[in-house]
Amino acid sequence: MLGELLKEKIFLSSPHMSEEGYEMEYIREAFESNWIAPLGKNVDEFENEICCMLDVKAAAALSSGTAAIHLALKAAGVNKGDIVFCSSLTFSATANPVIYQNAVPVFIDSDYETWNMSPSALEEAFIRYDRIGKRPKAVIVVHLYGLPSALDEIVYLCHKYQVPLIEDAAESLGSLYKGRYTGTFGDYGVFSFNGNKIITTSGGGMLVSNREERIRKVRFWATQARDPARHYEHSELGYNYRMSNVTAGIGRGQLKVLHDRVRQKQYINEFYRRELDGLPGLTFMPENRYNRPNYWLSCILLHGPVRSNDVFEALDEENIESRPIWKPMHLQPFYKGYDFVGEGVSERLFREGVCLPSDTKMTDEDLMRVVRKIRGLWR
Ligand SMILES: *Cc1c(COP(=O)(O)O)cnc(C)c1O
Repeated sequence: MLGELLKEKIFLSSPHMSEEGYEMEYIREAFESNWIAPLGKNVDEFENEICCMLDVKAAAALSSGTAAIHLALKAAGVNKGDIVFCSSLTFSATANPVIYQNAVPVFIDSDYETWNMSPSALEEAFIRYDRIGKRPKAVIVVHLYGLPSALDEIVYLCHKYQVPLIEDAAESLGSLYKGRYTGTFGDYGVFSFNGNKIITTSGGGMLVSNREERIRKVRFWATQARDPARHYEHSELGYNYRMSNVTAGIGRGQLKVLHDRVRQKQYINEFYRRELDGLPGLTFMPENRYNRPNYWLSCILLHGPVRSNDVFEALDEENIESRPIWKPMHLQPFYKGYDFVGEGVSERLFREGVCLPSDTKMTDEDLMRVVRKIRGLWR
C-alpha cells in the first residue's frame, strides 16, 4: 500500500536545466557585475541570440508570453472595440490580452490535420465579417503543443485581407514549418519561457518581428513609456513588462540546449507511438510531412471504448501527471458571449484528448511505466 503511494512522480513537463551549468555561468556574471536589474548584457544578448537563431531582425525580452501577446496586439494597432480573430483551442493567455485592449475576440475552430486554426473557418470568418462591413485588426494563430499551423494558407488569407498576423508560438519554440521556425511567419511572433515550456527562464517571454521600429516601441511601452526627459514625462500608457537580467541569463543557458530538448521530446513521441500502436480507438496527434514539430507535449485522442477520463484516472493512481487538451475558449464561461466560427472540431479534440507526460528527464523505464498503465486499460 505504502509503496503504491510513494511511487515517484512523473511530470508532464518540468524545468530541465543544462547538465553543463550554462545557466549558472550567466547568472554568476550578472551577480558579479551587479547587473541584477534592470536589463543588462544578458537581456541584450538573449534577444540577439533569439534573433540569430530564428533569423528575425528584432526581439524584445519581456516578463511573460502573455505580456508579449499584449504588446503585439498594441503594436498591431488593436484598440477598444476592434475585432481580433483568435484560435479557440488554446490556453486562455492567448485570448485574455484581447480583452486587456478592450477589443472583441472572434474564436476560430481547429481542423483535424493540424489541430490548429482551420484555414477554411478563418476564411469563412473573413467573408462573414466582410459582409457586414467589418474587418479584424489582427489574427492570432497558435501552434499548439509545438504543432505548426497551416501557415501557408493562414498567411495568404491575412495578406489577402491585409490584416496583421500574430503567431502565438509560446509552445512551439524550435518547431519548423517547411524548414523555417514558427514565430517568424507572421508580423509578430510570441514565445514563452514559463516553467513547463520547452525551455524556461522560470518565467518570461519574447516578442519578435522584422519590424525593428515596432520592437523599439514595444521596449518603450514595456519600460513604463518614459519619454526622453530628465524628469518622468509620459505621453503614452506604459507597462512594467521587461525581463530581468538574471532571468535572461537562465534563458541564454537554456537556449544552448534547446535542440537537445527537441530531440528528446521527439524521442518521447516516437516511444509512445511505437509502444501504444494498434490499441483500438487510440490515435496520435497529427504529423505532416512538411513539419518538424518540437513535440513539446505528446498527445493522443481516445474514441472509445477507453475514454480520456479512464486514462487520467489510471495515470493519477500511479502518480503520473497528465492533462486534458485545452478547453476551447468559445466554451469557457468567461468568453461565452463572443462569436465562434466553426463546426465542433476543437470541442471534440478537447473531449477526446490526453496530454501524456513529456518530461525530458524521463528515462525509458519511466516511459514504460506510463505505457504499461495505459495498455492495461484495454485488458
Ligand atoms: C504558456 C502559454 C502562453 C502564456 O505564456 P506565459 O509566459 O505563461 O505568460 C500563451 N499562449 C500559449 C498557447 C501558452 O501555452
